[in-house]
Amino acid sequence: MLVSISVLESTIKSIFRLSGADDSIVDDVSVHLRNYINRKGFLRIQKVNRFIFMPQCLRSTACPGKLTPEGIACIDCDQCGIGKPKKYSEDLGYKFYIVPGSSFIKRIIKKYQPKAIVGVGCQMEIKEGLDLCHRYGLPALGFPLSKAGCLATEIDWEQFNDAVND
Ligand code: SF4
Repeated sequence: MLVSISVLESTIKSIFRLSGADDSIVDDVSVHLRNYINRKGFLRIQKVNRFIFMPQCLRSTACPGKLTPEGIACIDCDQCGIGKPKKYSEDLGYKFYIVPGSSFIKRIIKKYQPKAIVGVGCQMEIKEGLDLCHRYGLPALGFPLSKAGCLATEIDWEQFNDAVND
């Protein structure tokens, strides 16, 4: 079904572009569809076997967290919104990683073999991440940023906390 979605998505995007319309809604729908398909499998996995990957652009530009081989080591300094949801998710059983790029994600997945993934990012990153997880046979949910970009991005933390609590 995911292959059909990808083919359909490219076709619809071409039509949007030809007519000069904003095609971002197609990405949005595509991520929702992928999440819908993956959700059942994701919920079957215990939280202790689920990993969360958070993009580093959500950090404060003054983040004191050091880069380690497994991403940014957050010290919950309270300068951005990540610290509290990180603790909340970890208390639920999740492993939580703040990563600078997809190479970190691939390395961590290879090393620790999670059974399900939650990935946060812009629509494009999420789509690529969901396709990657599909190739690894991992049920994954994508959670989009509410404000994308390279720095000072934003997310609805309340919705995020609700999503990881399922
Ligand atoms: S809360 Fe964590 S991620 Fe955010 S700025 Fe502080 S150390 Fe960095």
